[in-house]
Amino acid sequence: MSPLSEKNPLCLPLSVFCLLLLVPLVLLLVGGGGLFIHYSREIVTDSSRAYGQYRASLDLAERGADIRTQLWFLTSTPVWRKNVHAWEECRRQLQSLAAASSQAAPHAHVLLEKLESLRILREQLAKIDALRSEGQTSLLLEQRNALDNQADGLLRSLPELVQHLEQATSAAQDMGAQLRANAVSAQEQENRMLLFLVAAAAYLVLVIWLVQRQVVRPLMGIRGYVGRLGTGVAVEQPPHSHVLVIADIAEALENLAVYLGQATVRSEKIETERTQFRRMSLYDGLTNLYNRRAFDEALQKLWAKARQSGKPLGIVMMDVDKFKVYNDSCGHQAGDVCLRKVAGAVAKAVREGDVAARYGGEEFVVILPDTDKTQAFAAAERIREAVEAVKLPHPGSPAGPYVTVSLGVTAEATAEGSTPTDLVRHADEALYLSKKNGRNRATIYEVSTDGE
Ligand code: GH3
Ligand code: MG
Ligand code: MG
Repeated sequence: MSPLSEKNPLCLPLSVFCLLLLVPLVLLLVGGGGLFIHYSREIVTDSSRAYGQYRASLDLAERGADIRTQLWFLTSTPVWRKNVHAWEECRRQLQSLAAASSQAAPHAHVLLEKLESLRILREQLAKIDALRSEGQTSLLLEQRNALDNQADGLLRSLPELVQHLEQATSAAQDMGAQLRANAVSAQEQENRMLLFLVAAAAYLVLVIWLVQRQVVRPLMGIRGYVGRLGTGVAVEQPPHSHVLVIADIAEALENLAVYLGQATVRSEKIETERTQFRRMSLYDGLTNLYNRRAFDEALQKLWAKARQSGKPLGIVMMDVDKFKVYNDSCGHQAGDVCLRKVAGAVAKAVREGDVAARYGGEEFVVILPDTDKTQAFAAAERIREAVEAVKLPHPGSPAGPYVTVSLGVTAEATAEGSTPTDLVRHADEALYLSKKNGRNRATIYEVSTDGE
């Protein structure tokens, strides 16, 4: 097995598929065969039983015919009185007929009774004949004649009785014919069942062969071929049928690739849009600094971090001086440009790791992680100078000819009980002092400034 096919997860399902397909078919064949044998045996047993009954009924019919011939012989000739052996044989056969067939038994018994009567008559006649030879002629002759008449009457009734026997034998024959028809229909049923099972087995073999030829063999071939390709061993051309299947697979893969390509383009577009949205949600559209929301989030995180490390966190709040006047004299558009330039100066003046944001309107804020008051003040001064260095003319500013900012600075240990809002509030209070003290300056928050 090639390394590729070892790794191929299709190997197991394919084997399982073959097993799942073959096992029920084999079970079906075995089960069907078992049923066939079972029912065949039953049919054969029934058939042989029916045949046995048929043979027995034929035997009865033959016996009946034999008895009838003997009776005709005995009753139609004068020898009936003498042939004792014939009488006995006839009686014996009638008894065996009565024992062998319940249908023939009543008729046979009637005949047996009549035969017995005849036997008695015959004996009496024999006795009379003996007496006659002794000389008692007249009286005996009379008795003999009476008995002869009686015997004649009985003999005359015999044809009628034989008629009974004929009916019995014909009933036996009918039964035999019926049994023979049953045996024939059982045989036909057996043949039909055999035909059905042979057809079913042939169909199953055909299905197995088709699945093997159309599904399993091409798949196995492709798997082997692809496996050899993977190891660089395959050099021969795959069979034409395999090529067709490979072409189908290739087409499907091509479609899949196109679909995946489109999906990739779509997902890249979505990713770009997502980035844009994310950027829009974090950055201020006018100045390109972080917006207020991003500032609030960053302040929470840096506050928690400072709290963990025990290092101070600095904040610089700033506000453009007399910006209303600037707007009024230079126009709102120029005001926007001014804000962008101030923001640019702020961004350049801060360190990497500091977070500069537009706090709102013409106010900006910078978070300075791991910074004490002295360092924070130095940063505020750097910012103130950077804004002034842009040299944007501000005709109405009392703080100088150019656009300037006033700043409030604080840097505090994030002590138990204090909050990030306190930090911002303190910086704002210091900013207020800068405004109050002439603008274009930075003021450090001191506790003593509280309430001023
Ligand atoms: P102070 O020195 O005391 O801060 O005076 P100020 O005029 O700067 O303060 P004030 O709060 O009176 O005016 C702020 C102005 O800033 C008013 C508002 O129109 C303007 N402003 C706020 N946001 C923008 C903006 O996005 N673009 C422009 N062009 N102007 C803005
Ligand atoms: Mg303001
Ligand atoms: Mg202002």
